[in-house]
Amino acid sequence: MIIKNGRLVMPDEILPADIAIENGRISEIGNNLAGEAIFDANGMYVCPGFVDIHAHGGGGADFLDGIDAFDTALRFHATWGVTSMLPTSITAPIEIITDFISNIRTQKKSDPAAHRRARIIGAHIEGPYLSQKNKGAQPESWLRIPARDPYDFLLYGADVIRTVTLSPELEGAVEMVRRLTKAGIIVCAGHDNGRKSTIIPSIEAGVSHLTHLWCAMSTVAMYDGVREPGLCEIGLVDDRLTAEIIADNHHMPPELVQIAYRCKGAKKLCVVSDCLRAGGMPCDGHIWALGPKRARLTDFIVSDGVARLPDNTRLAGSIQTVGQMVGNLARYCNIPLTDAVRMASLTPAEIIGAERDIGSLTVGKRADICILDNELKPCAVFIDGININIERE
Ligand SMILES: [Zn+2]
Repeated sequence: MIIKNGRLVMPDEILPADIAIENGRISEIGNNLAGEAIFDANGMYVCPGFVDIHAHGGGGADFLDGIDAFDTALRFHATWGVTSMLPTSITAPIEIITDFISNIRTQKKSDPAAHRRARIIGAHIEGPYLSQKNKGAQPESWLRIPARDPYDFLLYGADVIRTVTLSPELEGAVEMVRRLTKAGIIVCAGHDNGRKSTIIPSIEAGVSHLTHLWCAMSTVAMYDGVREPGLCEIGLVDDRLTAEIIADNHHMPPELVQIAYRCKGAKKLCVVSDCLRAGGMPCDGHIWALGPKRARLTDFIVSDGVARLPDNTRLAGSIQTVGQMVGNLARYCNIPLTDAVRMASLTPAEIIGAERDIGSLTVGKRADICILDNELKPCAVFIDGININIERE
């Protein structure tokens, strides 16, 4: 199969070329390639499929609802060009999180192209080891402290857990970071109430990524007359750390996106959706369950294109996909398209160690491809070289 006449969005340039696909992989990139089946990209942007490393659901389903939620949510994201994901849990009773981990284990085996849905790379476990103060929309009664509440269930899930988000200042967190990284899990810091002196030890122990920069995160403050940076400022300047932003035009005003981009660059900053079940649903004023439907832990409401807690005090997550956020970065945040696409593909793939297989238009990698129209909207999506014929409402 050949995708012809595209403008290929490579990490450093836009290249007018064709792509040949064989056995689900990119077999050749060049001009005037010949082959049997032709897809005419008609001068549109041909991008690597997007990679979302932080999403709770979409299309009405939350990954914590149970096994039936996976098709719905993964399919919704795929229609927006997202071809690989880390389904993400929120703070919840341990049984619900362990159910989620075992669902990931079985669902990960199913063929994404055959089900016309995004591929599961692994799980992101967000919480329950998070600070009270910056819990955001996470349900308070299920928060845990590493020194007191065992986290063996995470170590048992290390075969499918790619990332865990925790607060670095909690009692026992440094030891937890050490044990998780030793088990091969990437540890992310976020939802924290730390300060420099309590954050640095966790970075030295292995924290390598920051969860939704600026959102539910500690920032500069005075302690006994001394000003200390928080996780946000440390993350912006510490080159050991990568970071993610929710680029839905609500969580982060363009100025903050620019600061993050200028400090970290497109190689260390990725975009995530943090999408909730309301993504893609008609939902003005409707009240939704945040997390599993069966154990109504907390609610959120959608107004003006973003999810908030019902009392309107906090943002609860986005209702967009990474496929929409690429356009936001390029159009509203003044980020070159090559970098915006990198932040949604190669960079997140590198952060989770999947870049050998996915994340760029490179010969030998999976033929996961998203074509953007002139308004930077995904209009065709290929997974393992198969056109999944997207239809959106
Ligand atoms: Zn989240």
